[in-house]
This record gives sequence, structure tokens and C-alpha cells, in this order.
Amino acid sequence: MKNLSRRKFVTHVGLGMGAAAILPTFSSFSSFQNKKLNIAICGLGRYGSLLSRSFVDSENCKLTGIITGTPSKAEKWKKEYGIPDKNVYNYQNFDSIVNNKDIDLVYVVLPNSMHKEYTIRAAEAGKHVIVEKPMALNALECKEMIDACKKNQVQLALGYRLHYEPHHQQIMRLGQNKILGQIRLIEVSLGYNIDNISPDDWHLKKSLSGGGPLMNLGVYCVQAGRYTLGEEPISVTAQFGPITKPELYKEVEESITWQMEFASGAVCTSSSSNRSSIDRYYASAEKGFIELSPAVSYGPFVGRTNQGKMNFPVINQQAAQMDGIAKFILQNKPLPDHIAGIEGFKDMKVIDAIYQAATTGKKVSLL
Ligand code: NAD
Repeated sequence: MKNLSRRKFVTHVGLGMGAAAILPTFSSFSSFQNKKLNIAICGLGRYGSLLSRSFVDSENCKLTGIITGTPSKAEKWKKEYGIPDKNVYNYQNFDSIVNNKDIDLVYVVLPNSMHKEYTIRAAEAGKHVIVEKPMALNALECKEMIDACKKNQVQLALGYRLHYEPHHQQIMRLGQNKILGQIRLIEVSLGYNIDNISPDDWHLKKSLSGGGPLMNLGVYCVQAGRYTLGEEPISVTAQFGPITKPELYKEVEESITWQMEFASGAVCTSSSSNRSSIDRYYASAEKGFIELSPAVSYGPFVGRTNQGKMNFPVINQQAAQMDGIAKFILQNKPLPDHIAGIEGFKDMKVIDAIYQAATTGKKVSLL
């Protein structure tokens, strides 16, 4: 992925469509440019590693600690990122992080079933939290996480990188402000052909993942439908796809398709799959359209509307996300709802309903 520094990013956005709407979000960075939010990554797997490499493009975040159950990873990360021994934790001694002044925030990048426990333990240790998607196994768990953070007076953010990405910020602006009129139909899907997934992968174990591609990929589509319209769905219908590899899909779905209906009359249809590669977004509005493909992955995104090509730069999504969160925490300001725990709760409510609809074959009301 091609990265742009924050400075370069602002310059490029100045040339792009809808730049005026996006610039103010970033211009307030100047007031705390020299401050750093000290972050410990909890879970040094694939995505934890990708995040660690993103700090180089971050202006306001510093990797100062790690939490891992694997001593060999700890050694590697300590050397690579200059992390001192006193900032290295395992899952047993993690709670003693309460005494560590070098760590402001714990970024939970563990299998989904562990998100709740580590969010709550971090909150009880007085640390702010970023938790990866999907926020937890279900909406009830999300509520417990939100309550724990509130009780311990720490902030809870979601790892929703697309909220900081200029094409998606433009989608939110066009959709929510009805710039192209009312959006009536959205089609957004994300899938990967991963026939070679190991049968031991935690994504296939319901107790660890909570479900299949809906949990892992579909959460982005639920998000896109909700943030395009700025509305909550009022009902969902859903269908599981066929199981073509029964040796792998004993516990979770292999693919799923669902439909969300909104009070405005808009409909959003989506599929998520471990069988078919798809990564695209299309919104049909009264007076035009928005199209993005690739749309949800790490990009580079290509987008257009009926008014022309979307002219936004490729950014480091992970660095932009961490800086976007840090800007509020460093200024001691509450995170806006759309990037805070409540957003993950709203998505999980919809996901719970989608699973219920697919299992029962009935429309599920969210009113
Ligand atoms: P991964 O399997 O590569 O890493 C998981 C980490 O958790 C590993 O370091 C593993 O050692 C550790 N772990 C601790 N206990 C474990 C257990 N009981 N079983 C399995 N692993 C255990 O997974 P990942 O792809 O890094 O995903 C981690 C989280 O990040 C997930 O919630 C995933 O949805 C999310 N994620 C987000 C994005 C994004 O773009 N925002 C991308 C990928 C993954």
C-alpha cells in the first residue's frame, strides 16, 4: 500500500472533490501537534503486525508497549520497536499495566471472543481502549464493554479505519446531506476466496469468532449502509449461502446475503463470503450515484459519482485512524459517537438480527 504522510495528505485533499468538507477535521491537529498518545498493542498477529508498521506514518501515536502470550514475539517486537522490558506484558500479568505511566491506551487486536475481556481489563486498569472489529460476539457484550469504560472514565474507540478514509468520508457527506437527493438503494459486499483457510483458523471456530464472514467482513457492509444514510435499519432479512466445504464450515457460515430496510425507504443489500472475492459499493440516489471498487479493503480505492471521478489520495488507513482517535483523547475531548463504542454496539445489534433472520427465515424487526 502506498502511504502518504499527514502533511502530504492535506495538500492532496486540497485538490480533491469535496475537500472543504474534509479539511476541517484535520486542521485542528495543529493545537496538539507535539503530543503523543502512547499505545500498547494487545495481540501480535497479522493485523497487530500491520498496525505496528503504521506508527511510522502517525503524527500523534507512539507504540510503547505490547501484550502477548508468545515470548519469541515479545523478543522480536522489543528489538524492532525499541520497547523496554517493563512495557511488555502477557495475558496473566496484563492487569499490572495499571501502574505503567508509559501506556495511555490498549489496542485490542485479539480474536473476537477475547475483545470483551481485554477491553474490560484495560478499562479497569485505567487505560483508554481501541477495540478491533467486530466489537464483540454480540450486542450484549458490547454494552458491558461500554459500561465498563464509562465506569472507569476511559474512552472506548472502535478500529473502524474507514471513518478516517477520504472516499468514505465523502460517501458519508453525500449520503447524509442528501447532496445527490435521497439514497434509495445501496449494494455493498465484501468477500474473499479463501479456500486455503486452515481448518484450525480461529475464524472457523464459533466460540472464538462468533460467526463466519458476516462477523469478519460483513460488519463493514452494515457500517457502510448505516453511515451512508445516517439512519438505523428498521428491519432485516437474510439467507445463509450453501456450504460447499463441510470439512471447514462445521460451526460458522461460509457465505451470507442480507437486506436492511430503513425508515426513509432505502434498502441496502449485501453479501459476505469466504468463497467469492468481491469488494464493491454502489449507492443509487434520486439524482445520481456513488460507486467505489475496491471499496472496503485496504485499497487503493477507486471511486466516482455521476458528477465525476473521486479525486482523493491513498492514505495509510491505520495511521489516519489512530491519529483520528488520538486527537480527541489527547485533548481530553469525548470521542464522537460514530467512532466510539456505541457505534460498535449499533452494528452488533444489526448483526445479531441478521443471524436471527438467516436462522429463522423470517424478517426481523429492529424497532
Ligand atoms: P490473528 O490470528 O492473525 O492474530 C490473533 C492474535 O491473537 C495472535 O497473535 C494470537 O497469538 C493471539 N491469540 C491469543 N489467544 C488466542 C487464541 N485463543 N486463539 C487464537 N489466537 C489467539 O488475527 P488477526 O487477523 O490479527 O485479527 C485480530 C482481530 O483484528 C480480529 O478481531 C479481526 O477481526 C481484526 N482485524 C481487523 C482488520 C481491520 O482492517 N480493521 C483487519 C484484520 C483483522
